[in-house]
Amino acid sequence: GRSVHQIQSGQVIVDLQSVCKELVENSIDAGATSIEVRFKNNGLDAIEVQDNGAGISPEDYDTIALKHYTSKLSTYDDLSSLQTFGFRGEALSSLCALSKFHIVTARASDGPKGTKLEFEQSGQLRGTSVVAAKQGTTVVVESLFYNLPVRRKELEKTIKREYNKVLALLNAYACVSTGVKFSVSNQLPKGKKTIAFSTNSNPNTKENIANVFGAKTLVALIPLNLTFEMDPSNRPGATQSARNWSTQEDAGSRTVAIVGHISRPVVGEGRQTPDKQMFFVNSRPCTLPQVAKAFNEVYKSYNITQSPFIFADIKLDTNAYDVNVSPDKRTILLHDQTTLLESLKEALIELFEGHDQ
Ligand code: ADP
Ligand code: MG
Repeated sequence: GRSVHQIQSGQVIVDLQSVCKELVENSIDAGATSIEVRFKNNGLDAIEVQDNGAGISPEDYDTIALKHYTSKLSTYDDLSSLQTFGFRGEALSSLCALSKFHIVTARASDGPKGTKLEFEQSGQLRGTSVVAAKQGTTVVVESLFYNLPVRRKELEKTIKREYNKVLALLNAYACVSTGVKFSVSNQLPKGKKTIAFSTNSNPNTKENIANVFGAKTLVALIPLNLTFEMDPSNRPGATQSARNWSTQEDAGSRTVAIVGHISRPVVGEGRQTPDKQMFFVNSRPCTLPQVAKAFNEVYKSYNITQSPFIFADIKLDTNAYDVNVSPDKRTILLHDQTTLLESLKEALIELFEGHDQ
């Protein structure tokens, strides 16, 4: 029934941030090199994500918004070597249940014409019509939670904070996505449209950071490039879901690399860094509170009291972590976390000691 569907949907789309996360990841999965996110009234009225990716095939129109439909996974084994963000087919079905939702999509072969797809709350395709469109996909989410009055009220009350959380997440996607042009704007009901930030199609993360936070930011940063070997013999027992996920036995030691850009380990000198910390696992933005704590502890030990800028991408084997711990896929479980954190702190101190201040 409908109510069951709504309750389950609540898991993947929990707030404004998860809407944007799912839509932007779909755009990246579609191979987009340009992604435009347009908020109306901070996202309360609408969130639109437009990309220039591959578009949706007509044979997928019927199933695209049905629960557990995904075009991205062919066999169960693929789960262990997942290259795309999406794989569970829950985002579009949830959005049908929780918002007024439609899609406009066009493939390269469609010329200047595209197709507008409208759906029932259940995710069933209601109808299609021909519209003008460029290659790519635009997903329009209007009146999020309009049919869940308590959640809608809560969203209205907290919208400023929610919008800022979304911007922080979009900053992270824009900084980590090389070769992808991002543009984020917000149209207030009576005001003018403001550009929150935009990036060029940069070849590296450094230029992305300059676009998002200002070129001056780079002066305050040093490159982060740590690698260490982790011995899997002292690894604590993997979780049940990790076992389910792993198809290969772990063999030998495991190389971990942590790359990115961080604040210089010096105090003062007018080097102001934006108060931003972004963490990634294999370029996927995620919440890693323990890793954040390890970084910040090392900075504190150098008497750096101002919050450092941290852009840290942890490169790991796909069988060294669990992405499906939380429904929104942002909280990631690292299998050898304790060992990893110790190695990280040591390597960071070594980097700081060796750095010409
Ligand atoms: P998942 O990403 O897990 O496959 P979603 O519900 O997010 O599930 O999307 C369902 C399907 O819709 C995707 O598998 C993909 O085929 C299609 N799709 C969604 N967004 C886009 C997009 N921006 N461009 C092309 N195809 C898309
Ligand atoms: Mg998806």
